[in-house]
Amino acid sequence: MALAYDGAIQNLIDAFSRLPGIGPKGAQRIAFYLLGAPDAEAQGLADAISEVKSKVRFCEICGNVCETSPCPVCQDPRRDRGVICVVEEPKDVMSIERTREFRGLYHVLGGAINPMANVGPADLRIPQLLERLGDGSVTEVILALDPNIEGEATTRYLAQLLGPLGVKVTRLASGLPVGSDLEYADEITLGRALSGRQAA
Ligand SMILES: [Zn+2]
Repeated sequence: MALAYDGAIQNLIDAFSRLPGIGPKGAQRIAFYLLGAPDAEAQGLADAISEVKSKVRFCEICGNVCETSPCPVCQDPRRDRGVICVVEEPKDVMSIERTREFRGLYHVLGGAINPMANVGPADLRIPQLLERLGDGSVTEVILALDPNIEGEATTRYLAQLLGPLGVKVTRLASGLPVGSDLEYADEITLGRALSGRQAA
């Protein structure tokens, strides 16, 4: 008995298997679903993938994903330019936006300090953050990192780094589900953690 399918179908299964959160069985299910789906639906998925790769870029200021750089948040004159909320990933910007508690700007680090995965401060967008603080117009930096070990290490590192610069450095209040990602906190809990932020 063959252990793998021939050619195209196995390629597709392998491609889905490499995606986060999808195991070999899930990959096989999706591949066969697409095989049986109308052409337009399968083509729609293929087009969505090419479109995201050709159109989406990272904002030159905050590092968030966008189709125009600077991104709409960085360009919005109604946003408070004196406050920057530092997050790990672009998806965290969406989590904070959903709380409707924040009207400042963002800075996406692109990850968190994680010695096990060989991610150190030099791998994050920290120089770009320091540059944004250079002209003194930012009065507060909110550290909104994931409530886990890596997020905590990054929060401590940034608090020490930014403290001497004379900018107010705060962090989310405790109360978020510990050991998880920001995205798993519901809007109300995250909104409370944001409004109840404390000195870092
Ligand atoms: Zn931006």
